[in-house]
Amino acid sequence: MSDTNKSDIYQHTDYLNYDVNAGDGTVHARRMPGRFRMRKWLAMLPTVGLFFVLPYFEWAERQAVLFDIPDRKFYLFGGVIWPQDLWMLALLLLFCFVCLFAMTAISGRIFCGFTCPQSVWTDILSWVEYKVEGKATERIKLDAAPWGVTKIRKKVTKHALWLVICGATAITFIGYFSGIYNAWGDFFDFSYSIFEWASFIIVLLLFYVNTGFVREQVCNWVCPYARIQGVMTDDNTIVTTYDERRGEPRGRLKQGNVEEGKGDCIDCKVCVSVCPTGVDIRKGQQIGCINCGVCIDACDSIMDQVKRPRGLIRFMSHNEFKTGERDKHPFLRVRPLIYSFATVAALVGIIAGIVLKSPVDINVNHARSPLYTMMSNGSLQNVYHMDFMNKTESAADFVLLISGLDGVTSNADDTVFHLKSGELKHFDLHARADKKVVTQEQQPITFELKSVSNADVRVIYKSVFIGPRH
Ligand code: SF4
Ligand code: SF4
Repeated sequence: MSDTNKSDIYQHTDYLNYDVNAGDGTVHARRMPGRFRMRKWLAMLPTVGLFFVLPYFEWAERQAVLFDIPDRKFYLFGGVIWPQDLWMLALLLLFCFVCLFAMTAISGRIFCGFTCPQSVWTDILSWVEYKVEGKATERIKLDAAPWGVTKIRKKVTKHALWLVICGATAITFIGYFSGIYNAWGDFFDFSYSIFEWASFIIVLLLFYVNTGFVREQVCNWVCPYARIQGVMTDDNTIVTTYDERRGEPRGRLKQGNVEEGKGDCIDCKVCVSVCPTGVDIRKGQQIGCINCGVCIDACDSIMDQVKRPRGLIRFMSHNEFKTGERDKHPFLRVRPLIYSFATVAALVGIIAGIVLKSPVDINVNHARSPLYTMMSNGSLQNVYHMDFMNKTESAADFVLLISGLDGVTSNADDTVFHLKSGELKHFDLHARADKKVVTQEQQPITFELKSVSNADVRVIYKSVFIGPRH
């Protein structure tokens, strides 16, 4: 065993007082550099960067991603999604959820540890706290110290910075609905609408309270995903695991040496001190573990110091723990494959929806009572309840053409429907045909709603014309 200097290992003796998060106090996690800490930063960048930068992207001289609530349109780069196309957003949500399930099946709460907005913003705010108030031990002392000039200065600085970050988050959020330049301009002009002020206050408080004060307790006690993740994982799921066969019986270093007969864990509790959710992973898998891996960095640094192999805490599956053999194909399992299939299906649905999306909508319901009317001139009349919607970006004139039945006429003949962008129009169509041409009880009939000025803007709806039984 190594000749490690005991004082190096236990230099932060305050950490020995760390205990598992019981929800009754702030967890002041120590920040340590390492592989997983770096990966956490790298994974956070797209999350935070995308949120703050995306609203500034323009597409066709318009904000690329914009939820235009008053006009009931959702601009997504080149496409416009109307309320009628919300099934695409439902598919998008399904896609996101199934991706999350797949990630969980493969590697537990890895989404929580690296990209969940709750842990990402908590990480940013706790980094600010670290910069203003110092290391974890100093923060604990500061919290316990009586109020004085230094404490007030540090606390005011920290909360002011937190409010700036959460305020910027709230304004950016509003920018997705009101336009990003309006969101910033109107905020500084104090000209937000009541809804915008309400949104600003709600989002600001949500981030300020949740990620500044409640922070890791959300992951432990509030997050519903933590409660249901158990049904998505199995014995092959790779999670942060303490190798207790190697580590136990744990024991403190005696005079700088690991005692004979003891395991590799020197009970320094550095793994607990760095855990953002206050988990002692040596007690086994727990609901609060967000799989961030920073305890792996911490323990590896200790193993380096006591000159033992790294990996006393590492990512491994329960099966690997039992058999000692690493799963060579962690993705080739029933659950990840099913989730991947569902993910691909949702993605195909979204792409098909975008590609096949019609610039104009028509919905036709055949009147049920009566199904047809025999007119005094010998013709048959069917009534159809129709809804048209212009889903293009500008107003347009439309005509309605009927085909499939010889000599069919209607009250839409010679009618031009003027529809503004996004306008929905209801129309009761009375179609008439000579009874001699209605040779079957149900004959196919086709409606075509067509723009007068653009032959590409058209939609076809197939229905039936109903006559008497022959
Ligand atoms: S698992 Fe590693 S970091 Fe945690 S107490 Fe043991 S030696 Fe220290
Ligand atoms: S136990 Fe380790 S992996 Fe789990 S949350 Fe704490 S530091 Fe992250």
